[in-house]
Amino acid sequence: MTRSETLFEQAKQTIPGGVNSPVRAFNGVGGSPLFIEKADGAYIYDADGKKYIDYVGSWGPMILGHNHPKIREAVLAAVENGLSFGAPTELEVKMAEKVISMVPSIEQVRMVSSGTEATMSAIRLARGFTNRDKILKFEGCYHGHADCLLVKAGSGALTLGQPSSPGIPEDFAKHTLTATYNDLDSVRALFEQHPDAISCIILEPVAGNMNCIPPVEGFLQGLRAICDEFGALLIIDEVMTGFRVSMSGAQGFYGVTPDLTTLGKVIGGGMPVGAFGGRKDVMQFIAPTGPVYQAGTLSGNPIAMTAGLAQMEALCEPGLYDSLADKTKRIAEGFKAAADKHGIPLAITYVGGMFGFFFTDETAPMTSFSQVTKCNMEHFRHFYHAMLDEGIYLAPSAYEAGFLSMAHGEEEIAITLAAVDRVFAAMK
Ligand code: PMP
Repeated sequence: MTRSETLFEQAKQTIPGGVNSPVRAFNGVGGSPLFIEKADGAYIYDADGKKYIDYVGSWGPMILGHNHPKIREAVLAAVENGLSFGAPTELEVKMAEKVISMVPSIEQVRMVSSGTEATMSAIRLARGFTNRDKILKFEGCYHGHADCLLVKAGSGALTLGQPSSPGIPEDFAKHTLTATYNDLDSVRALFEQHPDAISCIILEPVAGNMNCIPPVEGFLQGLRAICDEFGALLIIDEVMTGFRVSMSGAQGFYGVTPDLTTLGKVIGGGMPVGAFGGRKDVMQFIAPTGPVYQAGTLSGNPIAMTAGLAQMEALCEPGLYDSLADKTKRIAEGFKAAADKHGIPLAITYVGGMFGFFFTDETAPMTSFSQVTKCNMEHFRHFYHAMLDEGIYLAPSAYEAGFLSMAHGEEEIAITLAAVDRVFAAMK
């Protein structure tokens, strides 16, 4: 047994499933997860001392690569001053100013400790501000595990939501309406059925939790128009895309202005951070200025703010996003070229620093959750483990996007594409 396998068996005795977040258990690909000991630049190292080129990047935040010296040094210096105060700090003011300077739609922002808290709080705020109960989300988008967001579409197109986990009362789920991603007609139909009841639309502007599905042209703008027509708020969940797709998030990249934005792990540089922000008149509705309650003992934690600020400052380096997008394009196009060479049916997507690959015969662009569910999971599992053997660590699920970092250089790209070529050659 490897040390990772031994640790996994040990972990299962005391932690449900041996993991503190389900996808880590490798349920999507089978086998035993790697236990990670350390990470540096583009590489992670497992408990057996094996080194991998990492395309997970802690699920998104490691845009500069792991253990970046600027972030590490800033954090080590901040630790000298104490770990948590539960009182305001100048660091939080700097962080708010930084976020606001990068994302024009954000006029005020509140820090929280995870993406789940960010989306949960933004939805409570939208409901309080509009005095409406229902929300609209999209099938295949993930926004964390708050009750109202763990809801799937009901059986008919226009039925009310069903809980997607035990523990969520149907009385809660019925307030969540689920539309089809990239399909404005499905959104309009729900608004026409509930014209005065929907408080907000929440979506991933590039879906990264059903593999990587970009928005079709006009989709985001169409949602903006529908929200304006029916008096609902548009919440763009940039937990994954914020500061990864562009310096002003996916909203800047696609030119759409939401009322509220949720942010997450990226602004913590690897520390537990989230945030929600947007129009000042809406944000003023939050306590203590407004009636909607929201709070957090560790919100705006000084170490997390320090790590996040160091990362955000480094991200403002000119040319960084062009370079990140170029590397990502080369990886995705490289996967496709190798697949074509060996006759493996494969589709790819990429935007900014995120990419997807799909084992499918589909020749049309990948735009929908239903296309993703029809992909060949056996091929994915086989490819996944063969790549792991080659020393390439991809997200252990066919429903997750891949992430590059600035630490992925020519060498790492070449090693990865050579591995892809060998694995596809053996698969045909
Ligand atoms: N929103 C999106 C778009 C996400 O991808 C995630 C998690 N990957 C979340 C919200 C929830 O964030 P967290 O896991 O930090 O609670």
